[in-house]
Amino acid sequence: MTDSAVWHPFTQHATEPEPPVVLRTEGAWIETDKGKLLDGISSWWVTTHGHRQPRIVAAIREATESLDQVIFAGLTHEPAERLATALAGMAPEGLDRVFYSDSGSTAVEVALKMALGYWRHDGDGRHRIVVMENSYHGDTIGTMSVGERGVFNAAYEPIMFAVDTIPFPQGDGQATLDRFEALARNGDIAALIIEPLVLGAGGMLMYSADVLRGLREICDRHDVLLIADEVMTGWGRTGRLWACDHAQISPDILCTSKGLTGGVIPLAATLANDKIFQAHYSSDRTRTFYHSSSYTANPIACAAALANLGIWQDGGMQDRLDRLSAMQAERLSRFAGDGRFENIRQCGTIAAMDLRVSQGGYLAEDGPRMRAHFIENGVLLRPLGNTVYLMPPYCVTGEDLDLAYAAIDSYRSA
Ligand SMILES: *Cc1c(COP(=O)(O)O)cnc(C)c1O
Repeated sequence: MTDSAVWHPFTQHATEPEPPVVLRTEGAWIETDKGKLLDGISSWWVTTHGHRQPRIVAAIREATESLDQVIFAGLTHEPAERLATALAGMAPEGLDRVFYSDSGSTAVEVALKMALGYWRHDGDGRHRIVVMENSYHGDTIGTMSVGERGVFNAAYEPIMFAVDTIPFPQGDGQATLDRFEALARNGDIAALIIEPLVLGAGGMLMYSADVLRGLREICDRHDVLLIADEVMTGWGRTGRLWACDHAQISPDILCTSKGLTGGVIPLAATLANDKIFQAHYSSDRTRTFYHSSSYTANPIACAAALANLGIWQDGGMQDRLDRLSAMQAERLSRFAGDGRFENIRQCGTIAAMDLRVSQGGYLAEDGPRMRAHFIENGVLLRPLGNTVYLMPPYCVTGEDLDLAYAAIDSYRSA
């Protein structure tokens, strides 16, 4: 593997060790040429039920008997039609239109374009976007523009667009709501884009459903579109199907990807309410929503997603989420009085805590050291700076989790 031609994502090839070669995946486990690893981060937050979930794999196999990629402009197919209907039925109220793409980033780009299109066609052409401090929405230029600026995107800053930022909610979040209301009152804000309840890449930062509801209310008062980026939080991570469900709110636009196919194969969807769709619905062809990905609504991916939705519709998922949430809570509580960690927190199936370090930030040296320590102990965890978090597939057992928490417990700072 030393003569690999691969350029890996988020990887510093000059300093990182040769990666293990993955041979096989199953359930919560990844088998490599250097041993087995517990997938404590669901392969970057995509794997929900477990790797190679049998029903999803079978659906993919079956779909390939009759379909592969087929142009989705001017043609349609049953997997995409059925999936759209089912998704609209499971999504927060009112999100009845489903636009397909193939990654979280494209789902967010589509959302931003829909919001701008809405204001251009049916409004006053406003185009300012409000974002939350520490947010992450993807790595394309547009999604970086609405995300936190920092070491990851400093080089691209000159071509990113300007946004307005509200602070991450502290305490009851009133300062965040006040700041947003002040911006919204100006009347030139097209949309607010947020990760509801949990900011993932920003460090598993969590805020309350009350704040989320407050943001929705301000959007309503000042006619601002709400875009919920549920790319990470969707499909049960927060303990409910959608993070928005905790606040009983509907965004105007919702982005989903990662867990949409159970994490088996790429697919994304941007769901919009009727007013967004109607703004583009016209005999005037300039109002067409001019967007497509080559692999829009890939039938095999749609079949995989339908199998995933079937698992959710069968029932039993809420119990599984509740059980995993309780298992996480019990293990997190053992770190309660532990001086090595602070900000111990949980939202549904996601558990996180911060290693106390003298100097932090994402590039804190403890990050790579912790990661290596966890790998040595058979656990795949990738701390965000000094934030250690566990976001396992839902099939993880208590014994598996004990292994992960033991690896965290045995880490020693240099
Ligand atoms: C991962 C993520 C994205 C980007 O998804 P990709 O499939 O990696 O492009 C966008 N938003 C959030 C909240 C994410 O966690």
